[in-house]
Amino acid sequence: MSKKPKTPIKPDTLLAHAGRDSELSHGFINPPVYHASTLLFASAEDQVAHRSRYQYGRRGTPTTEALEDALTALEGEGCAGVALLPSGLAAITTALLAVVGAGDHILVTDSVYRPTRTFCDGILKRMGVETTYYDPLIGADIAKLFRPNTRAVFTESPGSQSFEMQDIPAIAKVAHDRGALVLTDNTWASPLYYRAFEKGVDLSIQAGTKYIGGHSDIMFGCVAANAKALPALKDFVYTLGLCVGPDDMFLALRGLRTLSVRLRRHHESGLAIARWLEARPEVLRVMHPALESDPGHAIWKRDFTGACGLFSIVLKPVSQQAVYAFMNELALFGIGYSWGGFESLVISFDCDEYRTATTWAPGGPTLRFHVGLEDPADLIADLERGFAVFNATK
Ligand SMILES: *Cc1c(COP(=O)(O)O)cnc(C)c1O
Repeated sequence: MSKKPKTPIKPDTLLAHAGRDSELSHGFINPPVYHASTLLFASAEDQVAHRSRYQYGRRGTPTTEALEDALTALEGEGCAGVALLPSGLAAITTALLAVVGAGDHILVTDSVYRPTRTFCDGILKRMGVETTYYDPLIGADIAKLFRPNTRAVFTESPGSQSFEMQDIPAIAKVAHDRGALVLTDNTWASPLYYRAFEKGVDLSIQAGTKYIGGHSDIMFGCVAANAKALPALKDFVYTLGLCVGPDDMFLALRGLRTLSVRLRRHHESGLAIARWLEARPEVLRVMHPALESDPGHAIWKRDFTGACGLFSIVLKPVSQQAVYAFMNELALFGIGYSWGGFESLVISFDCDEYRTATTWAPGGPTLRFHVGLEDPADLIADLERGFAVFNATK
């Protein structure tokens, strides 16, 4: 921070001021982007004693420090520090590897981001770590699934693609009583709309590729940890030699400055379009926890302070051809993975391909939307054109 504020500051103010050290940047607002490997020590004595604020490019530069400081400040109370990773998936796999070892057992929500599952079923299994998938709606009943060797519970709320809301405080209580750590993939809400550490989470993951970057131009991830989990996490990241390129770190920090205004717009436009879709005759159900009709709405209202622009819908049963015709007709919703950028997106998905602990029977074809920063009236007009073609095709 440039100057220390004299009264407590709110998150929007923090986003504008955190991670700024005007002394390090010679008075300029933003930190320099250090492209660096070697650092020269002042003397042989300093080298032997590692006497220098920085040691080596991989171990961090002023650019790294600025981003880490800003992210730690954003997480707030309960967060002891963050580790920066080259993608959201790398943040998930690193966080898990930092807490488990051969012979351990972990509990993972059945609604988890699919590549997390691929990692658990592949690499973790090969390393001798067993995974049990659980119903995302399980709450305190998760106690029944604990074994003496259960080391961690992985949560994600709302769930990827299907948007089930998890009672993380109830799950965390059970986990902590049994000596296990709680991890969460908090990409959907970000630390602005879900205060993970206040809800009992020990390690909170962000795919920074999404809203932190915000412009669909970087790959980035981070893991924030409390004092209990941070030392093992940091040690693991250093030992594995993981680091993020300086330009991507700079863009992540730049993205953070506008995170709050962008998210507010994504929230408002996303909800407006979700409500519009809910009233359409072609739509069976909208999966968006900020809608009063959503089964997870009570948890969202209790634990979250906002929503982003990502949600799914179930269409009434119709031909695959009509669904594709609808998607292909859209001009403002691009067909593509990832989300969190300024632009609107749509994908078709089917959770039935991979679920193991729960049955996925939504009652019709499913689509996931990301509502970007465009004028919502234009997006609605685009969707209207899509439905006209849809109805002419079915
Ligand atoms: C996209 C995504 C990730 C992975 O992030 P990458 O930066 O693409 O590796 C992780 N979790 C969730 C919920 C995501 O949507």
